[in-house]
Amino acid sequence: MPAVTMDQLVSLCKRRGFIFPGSDIYGGLQGTYDFGPLGVELKNNLKAAWWRANVYERDDMEGLDAAILMNRLTWKYSGHEETFTDPLVDCRSCKARWRADHIQGVCPNCGSKDLTEPRPFNMMFKTQVGPVADDTSFAYLRPETAQGIFVNFANVLATTSRKLPFGIAQIGKAFRNEINPRNFIFRVREFEQMEIEFFVMPGTEDAWHQRWLDDRMAWWRSVGLSSDNLQVYTVPKADLAHYSKATYDLMYRFPIGFEELEGIASRSDYDLGSHSKDQANLGISAKVMENADSTARLTYFDPETKRHLVPFVIEPSAGVDRGVLALLTEAYDEEQIKPVSAERAQAVRDALAAFVKSVGRNEKLDPAQRDAILERAEAIGQDVAAHMAQIPALLDLPGASSIELSKKLRGQADPALDESYRTVLHLKPALAPIKVAVFPLKRNAPEIVATAREIRKTLQADGNMRTVYDDTGAIGKLYRRQDEIGTPFCITVDFDTLGQGKDPSLTGTVTVRDRDTMQQERVLMRELPEYFRDRLR
Ligand code: ATP
Repeated sequence: MPAVTMDQLVSLCKRRGFIFPGSDIYGGLQGTYDFGPLGVELKNNLKAAWWRANVYERDDMEGLDAAILMNRLTWKYSGHEETFTDPLVDCRSCKARWRADHIQGVCPNCGSKDLTEPRPFNMMFKTQVGPVADDTSFAYLRPETAQGIFVNFANVLATTSRKLPFGIAQIGKAFRNEINPRNFIFRVREFEQMEIEFFVMPGTEDAWHQRWLDDRMAWWRSVGLSSDNLQVYTVPKADLAHYSKATYDLMYRFPIGFEELEGIASRSDYDLGSHSKDQANLGISAKVMENADSTARLTYFDPETKRHLVPFVIEPSAGVDRGVLALLTEAYDEEQIKPVSAERAQAVRDALAAFVKSVGRNEKLDPAQRDAILERAEAIGQDVAAHMAQIPALLDLPGASSIELSKKLRGQADPALDESYRTVLHLKPALAPIKVAVFPLKRNAPEIVATAREIRKTLQADGNMRTVYDDTGAIGKLYRRQDEIGTPFCITVDFDTLGQGKDPSLTGTVTVRDRDTMQQERVLMRELPEYFRDRLR
């Protein structure tokens, strides 16, 4: 398993403004999360990297941004109305509802085996379109972005004169009424997808399927996921949809184990065939529902054979939110950078032991919350020096702040954490939410402050890099704060910069500190944009 647990990621994300529970001040809305100031940057950077690699750096791809609300017939002919279901079971003892394939016959809530027979539950959300509410005026929120691509196939083909093979790429929201949203942003009810429908000549689909698998693996590695944490799962033939020739699931080692990050499916001519008129004359190989509503023939004219044919489709479909979770999982690290004094270590150990005792005795705590806190606290207690950086996440667990002794523990741990530990996100610089942070050595020295602010402005405006200014603590603490959110570079402006220090040769230079190596070097201020441009790719 990776070193990081889901709790640690949740805690960091909330504490530092990556991701908050949705509608937090009203008690939340299950299965929804809001991306905060840092989360939106990270997510945008991931989407931009995907778009660049798949649309700009290839010459066989077009982009698209289709509407979320679509004519209901889309979902009839795609098969979603009929089959986009999960098996739902009810626990007769505690009335909880579960997805049958996630629970192996035992209710996770109360342990009862008295469950109803599974029945299909359609995961599409419905909404009202227009002012009249009746049985025909509803639409679905799209459960995938793919159908927007298929229904636009003829539009894109006509307006771009593309030849096969070519693809259409789209990033956008998708909604699924998941029976049990869980595991933070891994399974949610509103999420984003990055999808490609790649159209190929029938007969070439197997080779293209393999190429897309290789390309997508290489891309995930290029954004920082390590090969050790990626696996390919070939979906067994028996589990495939009737039209699918083969599907690869690209699995990532999340804190909950290896789970799907992206699916890469070979979908034959099912999708275009399903949405096409005149199906009988098109030689469609997949079994499709008869379509009396479509107004378009979704075919491609092959100039060589002078025939109209329905292209086959390869579909690489990735989740943005799961991508963000994978990046955070991969990047998260805790390091001890200085020894802790024996007295301080002992004080933290004692405070932790007292906290554990108090949690164990507390009868007001929800038993599940108590168990979670105790389990985590005991794991930290096995080697307090090694796991000190996990104390903030422990104290963020639900219920922990209601324990009086939590304040004492925090008070004992904080000074050690400030001095001797750092949590660091080793994100690829191109993905990092903030590229550069600028600090004044002294916040009451007007010239230093003005220079630091000027650097921030220049880098952000002209250098197009997200840059922040911070003067709210000592430099060491500010470094630690930026490490925790993955900022690759910090700049400090000091008296030498202004020519007022001991070494006149440093005039016009600043200290640049590297997140990963923690090394510092002096760089000429005027060379900063170029310096970072080379290092932020
Ligand atoms: P799962 O088996 O985990 O429910 P799926 O096979 O239904 O996923 P696809 O329909 O293949 O998923 O969707 C493509 C991608 O969209 C997935 O690989 C995943 O990254 C993302 N995705 C699907 N459902 C969710 C969800 N509820 N929350 C977050 N991401 C999701």
